[in-house]
Amino acid sequence: MPRATPLANPVPLGNSPAMSPPRNPNGFAHNPLDRSAHHRTDPDWIAQRLGDPSSLVVPFWRAMPLIVKLPDGRDTGWLRPSLLPSALAGEATLVFLGVEKDIAYFALDVSDMADPEREGPLAGLGRFEELRAIAPELHRAEASILAQAKSLIDWHARHRFCAQCGARTVLADAGYKRTCSACEAQHFPRTDPVVITLATREGRCLLGRGPKWPDGFFSALAGFVEPGETIEQAAAREIFEETQVRVENVRIFASQPWPYPSSLMIGCFAEAASEAITVDGIEIAEARWFDRASVAAALEGRSDVLRTPPPLAIAHQLLRVWIAEAG
Ligand SMILES: [Zn+2]
Repeated sequence: MPRATPLANPVPLGNSPAMSPPRNPNGFAHNPLDRSAHHRTDPDWIAQRLGDPSSLVVPFWRAMPLIVKLPDGRDTGWLRPSLLPSALAGEATLVFLGVEKDIAYFALDVSDMADPEREGPLAGLGRFEELRAIAPELHRAEASILAQAKSLIDWHARHRFCAQCGARTVLADAGYKRTCSACEAQHFPRTDPVVITLATREGRCLLGRGPKWPDGFFSALAGFVEPGETIEQAAAREIFEETQVRVENVRIFASQPWPYPSSLMIGCFAEAASEAITVDGIEIAEARWFDRASVAAALEGRSDVLRTPPPLAIAHQLLRVWIAEAG
């Protein structure tokens, strides 16, 4: 698929099969970049690539990527590094994302700029938009690269001080580490595992609605994995805490990077061993059993009573697989 930038000739975007997980249907799960971790500790290589006119940089402003308008739709605002000389020379957060077809990709945090859509070197190029809102319009490889970039940039913004001694930290390893300026502790970008589980029983599935969600909007039950806990235990615990339903035979389906800010969604199926629902009223306002016909109608957008998450979300894919497995 061709990738266009505002300043450059279209750049071919490979979706290299070797790097893309096969058959993973989830949004943000198709990052084609070779992360080339061995280059992160080579500042000369990074500097050389930043001076290379073929390299591409996507600016982020307040956790939102630059999006440009093209004749056939909107796309990531990949810019040549030469457009950003002052930002690259300063102390701004710059992270190396990886390499694809010998092109090096970076992301740059320009949050210090007051209004980059209207002032400075980026004025007039595009708009900074929420990734979650724009992702459905982007090629899945583009959305996946932006998810990597967003999580990294967000992590740097929230880890400027050492968790061990409180002194300032500085970016290292091309964005994959922060080192404390006082005690030399090393801090690494974190990923927080979340289980999201579709419990089923006798042709029905268990869905819940959060207290702030609109009426009729339901999803699979989810929660963070806690320290010292397996994925399977976390799935069973979360469902029991939220609904008092007991589940067994938890089966991992697939995973999905979810950059809000740094989760890894782990989609599971489970067999429910009990039926009675008692919601906690805190995490979950309402939970119900839904049959396949109701869920199928909701997935196709033709239900008046049930709304489910969009295709980008792993909960949507869990429901789709459950429907398909019934034949
Ligand atoms: Zn420290």
